[in-house]
Amino acid sequence: MSEIMTGGESPDFEDARRITENLAAIRAGIAAACEASGRDVSSVRLLVATKTVPAHRIRLAIDAGVDLIAENRVQELATKDGALAGLPVSRHFVGHLQSNKVRDVLRYVSCIHSVDSMSLASKLARELEKTGRQLEILIQVNTSGEASKFGVGLEDAESLIRSVSRLEPLRIVGLMTIGLLFSHGEAARRCFVELRQLRDRVASLALPGVEMAHLSMGMTPDYQEAIREGATIVRVGQAIFGPRPTRPGLFWDERDRDQV
Ligand SMILES: *Cc1c(COP(=O)(O)O)cnc(C)c1O
Repeated sequence: MSEIMTGGESPDFEDARRITENLAAIRAGIAAACEASGRDVSSVRLLVATKTVPAHRIRLAIDAGVDLIAENRVQELATKDGALAGLPVSRHFVGHLQSNKVRDVLRYVSCIHSVDSMSLASKLARELEKTGRQLEILIQVNTSGEASKFGVGLEDAESLIRSVSRLEPLRIVGLMTIGLLFSHGEAARRCFVELRQLRDRVASLALPGVEMAHLSMGMTPDYQEAIREGATIVRVGQAIFGPRPTRPGLFWDERDRDQV
């Protein structure tokens, strides 16, 4: 951008304007993808992924109308919590959850997208029972087959869902996947189709405690493909806040990460 256009404006003002413009572009992109697939724009919710983004920039996004944000590390939830207190925003968790962080995460979020094992689900349920609280969760499915990825395998998903559905405090409200990383178009689309077909199969079982209302899928490079395949929640970060440094460990806990 030229200096003539930006002269005299504070960096924060500049940043606020850029975030507002980026959000408008994403909302237009969501509307276009909905239109192209004959869907109502209100059937897709924008979740803003805020990992590595400092709280003051997240506030700018909330000022610009964002009402749903998510972190993928409990530590980041904790450090940003004070600065975001009282703001009109819902918070979800989308990262790999270590069992020793289960109690902490429940202090901050209303929904966890990344439940992928019975042991994690049981720990969550046990913690929730202490307070009589219920929690909405999504089951994370590994649709890409990439070994580095968390998520239950497609072939094991149905039996995991049956088991988790018996845990009283957890309400399964859908499925989540991370498509192929660094790829979009046809290859990413295949992952989204797999998740949608699994959703349809599970929905047809009509299991008590399971509501297949949500498909959480699609990120910066592929959210439009995801919407065309039925996403009800798209998780977008970089298209709003700008590129993140690509060091390892940004999607998952460093301990569990291998090289991409
Ligand atoms: C970071 C992240 C996103 C968003 O990715 P962007 O490239 O920033 O759009 C979505 N889902 C999960 C699980 C993430 O960790």
